[in-house]
Amino acid sequence: MTTPRTLREASCADDYDPNSMPVDRARALIRQFLTPVAATERVHVRAALDRVLAEDVVSPIAVPGHDNSAMDGWAVRFADLAPDGETTLPRSGESFAGRPFAGELAPGTAVRIFTGGVMPQGADTVVMQERATEVDGGVRIAAGAVTRAGQNRRFAGEDVKAGQVVFRRGQPVRPAELGMIASLGVNEVTVYRRLRVAFFSTGDELKSIGTPLAEGEIYDSNRYTLYGMLTRLGCEIVDMGVVPDVPETLEHAFATAAANADVVITSGGVSVGEADFVKQLMDKLGEVLFWKIAMKPGRPLAYGRIGTAHFFGLPGNPVSVMVTFYQFVRDALLVLQGRADVVPVPLFRATLAAPIRKVPGRTEFQRGILTPAADGGYEVRTTGDQGSGILSSMSQANCFIVLSADTGNVAAGETVDVQLLEGLL
Ligand code: AMP
Ligand code: MG
Repeated sequence: MTTPRTLREASCADDYDPNSMPVDRARALIRQFLTPVAATERVHVRAALDRVLAEDVVSPIAVPGHDNSAMDGWAVRFADLAPDGETTLPRSGESFAGRPFAGELAPGTAVRIFTGGVMPQGADTVVMQERATEVDGGVRIAAGAVTRAGQNRRFAGEDVKAGQVVFRRGQPVRPAELGMIASLGVNEVTVYRRLRVAFFSTGDELKSIGTPLAEGEIYDSNRYTLYGMLTRLGCEIVDMGVVPDVPETLEHAFATAAANADVVITSGGVSVGEADFVKQLMDKLGEVLFWKIAMKPGRPLAYGRIGTAHFFGLPGNPVSVMVTFYQFVRDALLVLQGRADVVPVPLFRATLAAPIRKVPGRTEFQRGILTPAADGGYEVRTTGDQGSGILSSMSQANCFIVLSADTGNVAAGETVDVQLLEGLL
């Protein structure tokens, strides 16, 4: 499939109905417009944690660099061991980790060796110390202590060969990668620069914390959940505060945000009625599609471009903000960060502990509490009231219960799909 040049072209080719856009379709459509940031930077290994590699990492050395012992024991020649019976060999030296035995193992002798100690030349096998007894000037090895040549020996390059591509561009750097990179002796890597994400909340009723509320006003919580989610994703953030529903002010905010960031995220102002007004603005400033996603919560969603920035217009309701972020924005940001391995967060099955009522037609992301069950598996129940304004449900929950669009009521004891919240970000 060729990449469509414009959002509208893509959405038409997809036969899209903006009033009941399936979750998967919206995800796929957005995906076609995402290309990773191009700029890169060199950083020290530790600073690469939670960043994305922008160049392959090639090992300058073999790891390990030498054949070495996997055990504390005795390095021997396999051929010197009696095939059936004890063997006693004189001790000809020691090989400690970092302090090798000098010279070659003389036939018919053994070298005391410790885990990580370099295999002496001529030795091919290590007898573990539990199967050997130190005797005067040597060692007595039990019958059958080793069964084959090469036992308990680690080979040079068995983890990494010299010149091997250890990590490809697009690899996220987690603690395991930090350790691997250090094991190669590499102290700097090239990573993609951080994504810059500007966000603001829209609504005349919103107040920032630290100011008293007048009648009918509420505190802006969306900027705080967004701050948390974006920070956990390693984004550079530009918090633009609360913007009232005033056309000129909003236009200015959108333009400023787009000029200063790779991604612009807003909450509120995309539901019916309000959207008409934001739509007019978007027609002027960029190319943006307004959808009613066939999902609950999180129905209204806008995606598009303002200048060179990607734009996500999230719903206003606090739970909807988090759900749409997790289901659409998260994956998009990972792709833009240069991650090569972006796949939807996995679902797994759990037994429903109490019935759920649901009308078919929309994918629901109910907030769930997953607990170990008596049978060794897991059971899940909802947090209770599933209103999109009940932000406490996101706090109580440790998972989403994901009910596909065609699902209706689900009885207790049936299995459902769940998606863990911890690990999502
Ligand atoms: P809207 O999408 O702008 O119609 O907002 C939907 C609901 O979410 C309304 O009850 C708003 O008051 C509420 N809401 C919008 N933005 C925020 C916010 N930043 N923090 C908390 N609630 C909000
Ligand atoms: Mg509003």
